[in-house]
Amino acid sequence: MDSCIFCKIASGEIATSFVYEDDLTVAFKDLQPQAPVHILLIPRRHVVSLEEARDPQLLGHLLMAAKNAAEIIGLAQYRLVINTGPDAGQSVFHLHLHILGGRQMNWPPG
Ligand code: 5GP
Ligand code: ZN
Repeated sequence: MDSCIFCKIASGEIATSFVYEDDLTVAFKDLQPQAPVHILLIPRRHVVSLEEARDPQLLGHLLMAAKNAAEIIGLAQYRLVINTGPDAGQSVFHLHLHILGGRQMNWPPG
């Protein structure tokens, strides 16, 4: 999608260093990290949110990719977050998983 910042990152239009990539996904550092390690993993294809996602294979792939990305960046313990909709804190409307680690996490989340 033309106006989508994450599509521009995935396509290379906005030059970004990927910490992980495969045929369907890319992962890169969050601009405003909320933990010592804070990575965003996105599908290369534009999907608005988890609510809009229709492809079980892509969703399964994203989880495996998150696991692989975490391993590559040296995280054995981490939290995955998918904010879905504005009330849940979604601010970029291209599906993304937050991979957070490097500190003790709190529960419940805010
Ligand atoms: P959300 O709030 O939608 O769950 O997460 C969006 C995340 O994207 C936020 O953590 C925000 O810091 C990050 N973000 C927004 N714009 C950019 C950008 O242009 N580059 C990067 N690397 N991260 C971004
Ligand atoms: Zn997009």
